[in-house]
Amino acid sequence: MNTDEDQPHDVEGFAGLGLRPELLKALETLGYEEPTPIQRQTIPTLLEGRDLLGQAATGTGKTAAFALPVLHGIEPDDAAIPVCLVLVPTRELAVQVSEAMHKYGSEQRIRVLPVYGGQPIQRQFKALDRGVHVVVATPGRALDHIRRNSLDLSTIRTVILDEADEMLDMGFTEDIEEILQGTPDDRQTVLFSATMPPRINAIAKRYQTDPVRIQISRSEADEGTELIHQSVYFVPRSHKPSALGRILDIEAPSSAIVFCRTRTEVDDLTVTMNGRGYRAEALHGGMDQKQRDRVMARLRDGTAELLVATDVAARGLDIDTLTHVINYEVPSAPESYVHRIGRVGRAGREGTAITLAEPRQRRLLKNIERLTKQTLHVGKVPSVADLRARQIELTVAAVAEALESDDLDDYAGVFDALLGSPEQWGEDDGRTIALAAIKLVHEARGAVMDEVEIPDVSNFDPDKSKGKGKNKGKGAKRGFEGGGDRGAKRGSSNDADTAFIYLNMGKTSRVRPGDLVGAIANESGLTGRDIGPIRIHDRFSVVGVPEASADHVIDAMSSSSLRGKKVKVRRYTD
Ligand code: ADP
Ligand code: MG
Repeated sequence: MNTDEDQPHDVEGFAGLGLRPELLKALETLGYEEPTPIQRQTIPTLLEGRDLLGQAATGTGKTAAFALPVLHGIEPDDAAIPVCLVLVPTRELAVQVSEAMHKYGSEQRIRVLPVYGGQPIQRQFKALDRGVHVVVATPGRALDHIRRNSLDLSTIRTVILDEADEMLDMGFTEDIEEILQGTPDDRQTVLFSATMPPRINAIAKRYQTDPVRIQISRSEADEGTELIHQSVYFVPRSHKPSALGRILDIEAPSSAIVFCRTRTEVDDLTVTMNGRGYRAEALHGGMDQKQRDRVMARLRDGTAELLVATDVAARGLDIDTLTHVINYEVPSAPESYVHRIGRVGRAGREGTAITLAEPRQRRLLKNIERLTKQTLHVGKVPSVADLRARQIELTVAAVAEALESDDLDDYAGVFDALLGSPEQWGEDDGRTIALAAIKLVHEARGAVMDEVEIPDVSNFDPDKSKGKGKNKGKGAKRGFEGGGDRGAKRGSSNDADTAFIYLNMGKTSRVRPGDLVGAIANESGLTGRDIGPIRIHDRFSVVGVPEASADHVIDAMSSSSLRGKKVKVRRYTD
């Protein structure tokens, strides 16, 4: 029975924030009932027109927090001139934020255009020409349009920097500053970031007017993060692919994202996992937009169950069905761990985050625990025996289920035909036939035995180079206690040896650090933190990258361009 009419209409929820009826209707259609904490705290401030500096973890609803106030200020019949510019770090995020804003603004017929590199610029010219209210762009392509006069900033009322920390890490600082300088002085400037490094504050100081600062701490952020079960498995490097396979076999995720450091690693692991019977798809910066869209569609509709991706490619992606986030490598910056695991546990759902680590990476894990204020449980990689037991369990379950079915008699003919030649099977003919049938079921389920034991290194502490004993029990879970601290400030590229890469373009080609970091990050899947130091000479540049990724970076950059030109890339030797 519906007693709605008897209740006074509460002015809580989104209506209580004073949003226009068209938006409330759109939100109702989307099934949003209550604003999230960051939305509740930022929307009123933004509606007043104040500048804002907001910090909240991934998955807390930042998109609607900045989008709704902007859309609130647009009348349904307003001419399609750009009043809002949203800057985001990646193409995927440009598409995702555009889609969200398009949905929120559907009742007002708001026109939102994603603008990013990799899509033919001609098509963007046409769309901009036809008129839009909101442009969601990556900084490089936005600047391209501004310089070609295809994007007029003079009517912009609000500029939003989404995932600002990531944009700065990717080397977009100068581009962003140039864009901001081209917008009207009385604009509203909104900055959202998952972390607040000093460089963000510097931008805020320069380009914001008396911003309201809002920070949602993790515990406040959403109950979701507490619902993420986080564990780490210590595995020697060479055994990682098969360890991952076994963990997935036992965990049986309905859909998972596996993060790798580089594009090559993504491609290799995708092949390996497909070989193990998983429907895995790769996602990285080396793929064109069509390929990426196809991959995302396959994951969303369940055709693929594993997405193997680099950080850059997966930044900000929101996939409803995701149950597991797997770090194939320990992210060197704890913040990036937080971003990654934020892909699950959204909107109060449970999720699992699994990290594969080498014993020497304990320190990085400790930093992560410090930042998240949560304990990583140490899991034990399933042994051959565990796996076999699990596979038998599944086969027993499959056969038991078949025993329940009422069409078994349909197969009587087959059984009788087999029974018909007793001299072949001997006394126990029924049992022998059943065993043969079970063998077929077992094999058909892909339960192929993988016989190599993976050494248990969960107690190996390289700093003390002696074990701590215990942790014998199967699947034992205990709090993670890291090894020595060695005084390192934070994980970063200085963990690995740095290799130097030579590129045959420099100051005379107007190359700036941001161009180098942006191009390398986009092409190789490294993050901004992995790249550096950078030296730009007149006719060439030298960039440091982790030794392990050097060949891959050279490969990736050789087939791409820098400031629109082909670039020669090789290892740098003085
Ligand atoms: P963030 O940018 O902070 O990482 P998003 O804006 O991508 O987070 O939002 C995460 C998810 O939560 C999206 O699927 C979005 O549709 C959903 N969401 C956002 N706000 C609400 C809300 N008030 N009620 C329900 N779902 C919401
Ligand atoms: Mg976001």
